[in-house]
Amino acid sequence: MISVSGQTSANVDYAAELLRKAKRAVVLTGAGISTPSGIPDFRSEGTGLWSRDEPLEVASLSTFRTAPEKFFQWFRPLASQIFDAQPNAAHIALAELEKAGRIQALITQNIDALHHKAGSRQVIEMHGTLRTLSCTQCFQQVESHGYLKPFVEHGQLPRCPRCNGLLKPDVILFGEQLPQQAWYEAQRACRQCDLMIVAGSSLEVLPVAGLPMQAIDRGAHLIIVNNTPTYLNVRADFVFMDDVADILPLIAERTLHG
Ligand SMILES: [Zn+2]
Repeated sequence: MISVSGQTSANVDYAAELLRKAKRAVVLTGAGISTPSGIPDFRSEGTGLWSRDEPLEVASLSTFRTAPEKFFQWFRPLASQIFDAQPNAAHIALAELEKAGRIQALITQNIDALHHKAGSRQVIEMHGTLRTLSCTQCFQQVESHGYLKPFVEHGQLPRCPRCNGLLKPDVILFGEQLPQQAWYEAQRACRQCDLMIVAGSSLEVLPVAGLPMQAIDRGAHLIIVNNTPTYLNVRADFVFMDDVADILPLIAERTLHG
């Protein structure tokens, strides 16, 4: 158990009270929730995979189409990190809250499937997922397991079991639109919720960053757990500028066990 200041501890109590009172709580998570699991924040400058390899060009749909080897070469270390990663205390806290009926939906900007690994079920993946791959020729969709391992270990490009076409990870690349169904579900969840929790997102990537606005404009409470400021801190009921893996388990513990 980590030690927190008296003020933080009091705010954890208030946040837990908001969660207990909420009829529809929705959580939005970003890269910050997966950094304690060893997955770098791809978008932070200087540290992430995006910035290291001129991602705007490499992680794009056009690169995938014109030079898939280049794309997969860029993608391999990332896939390797994600493949080995395990959910941390923050993922687990959110899964427990959902299981106890305290969270109705979880919207994530992450592609690492760690919420699923932790046991969350109502997950809306705004930037796609690494759990599945789809054939670029015949659109057959397959589970990643069984394809990613040989790729990560031997660099063997994943190919469709039906037509041998190249399989593309079901993640949203630059130049691709957000999945419509996910976007629709996320908007609906945000408009209907009475409590919004932002965890591990600096709210910098549009349009997802605008989702909490839709919630608070309709009167929802807002809790932010992120170690850097966001544009919505001024509108939040509580802001925890701390590590999500420290704060979320505390909030879950006090929500579920008083
Ligand atoms: Zn195919």
